[in-house]
Amino acid sequence: MKGSYLIGTIRGIRIEINISWLAAFLLISATLATGFFPARYPDWGQDVYWILGSSVAILMLLSIIAHELSHSLVANRLGVGVKRITLFIFGGIADLEKEPDSPRKEFLVAIAGPLMSLVLVVVFRAIGVGADYLQLPEYFSVVFLYLSSINLVLAVFNMFPAFPLDGGRVLRAAIWHFTGNLHKATRIASTIGQWFGYFLMFIGLTNMFYGNLINGLWILFIGYFVVQASQSSYQNTIVSDIFSRTMVGEFMTREVVSIDRSVSVSDAVDEYFFRYKFNVFPVMDEGDVTGIITIDNVKGIPKEEWGVTTVGAIATEIGDVLRVSPDETVSNVVSKIFSNNIGRVLVMEEDSLVGIVSRTDIMNHLRIYMQLNNIK
Ligand SMILES: [Zn+2]
Repeated sequence: MKGSYLIGTIRGIRIEINISWLAAFLLISATLATGFFPARYPDWGQDVYWILGSSVAILMLLSIIAHELSHSLVANRLGVGVKRITLFIFGGIADLEKEPDSPRKEFLVAIAGPLMSLVLVVVFRAIGVGADYLQLPEYFSVVFLYLSSINLVLAVFNMFPAFPLDGGRVLRAAIWHFTGNLHKATRIASTIGQWFGYFLMFIGLTNMFYGNLINGLWILFIGYFVVQASQSSYQNTIVSDIFSRTMVGEFMTREVVSIDRSVSVSDAVDEYFFRYKFNVFPVMDEGDVTGIITIDNVKGIPKEEWGVTTVGAIATEIGDVLRVSPDETVSNVVSKIFSNNIGRVLVMEEDSLVGIVSRTDIMNHLRIYMQLNNIK
């Protein structure tokens, strides 16, 4: 996520805070300091309200980190792999490196977060009651009892069966377990996710209509976020499921036509680009790949110079081109291509070029697969 900063690492998992979290921090502190606390404890003074409000916001952040860490540690234990947790305006996200490959793993990873929140409900409640019992200043019990209820809300909200919320993942795991069909399970769970998102947006708008502007807007945005997230995680699931079973070696284009670096650009255009109709060609120097040439490289120089410029002079150097091995899964390659926003990768075995995988190949494969299987 853009604008995220590392705040610490726990067991190899990077914890990052996105700048958008500050908005949540301010909103939560302000709502508590100017509304909730003064209404309940009128004689406590403005500075106390703000200290309590921001303490709750910070402890809430820690609660969310604990929730996400719980998902992540279970995932790492099951070999699903989480390297990063990001805290942002609507809560936290643990980035799974790949989707769990069995319903059991999916269930265990999903349930771990809400279970941690429930543990925190009990822990914070015990601290709050304990502080009361020890006759500590009332602030302590107020803050911790409030946090206890916040964690209860977190656990309950996340357990709605709306994919990609935790409850939606539990539902997906259950359908997947009973039908053996991951795509169907994902489709059902993410459809419910979208309805739930629209429902939240409706609640948000209703709240705004009745004058509850800030809360309403907040719920509206969360709803919108859930709608978006359920749509995109459905697509991601399908894509990673299709491609995690395919190896690059089976998928790549083998008939690689390469151009020698001494060939002129005008010859390359006539005898390669127009003739073979590929968008990219590896550039060779005495049998070794030294780079690639694309239509964009060619467009980068004026037509008058095509005759006197060699392919080698304008090619993208091999150092800047991503290389993959034929025994990687295609889903690895898909994430490389899309996260680097590049058109293709070279498939190399040791030092020799054995194939190419392009973004167009991937999209075409996906389109054909989806049409054959009636997936929208
Ligand atoms: Zn969760």
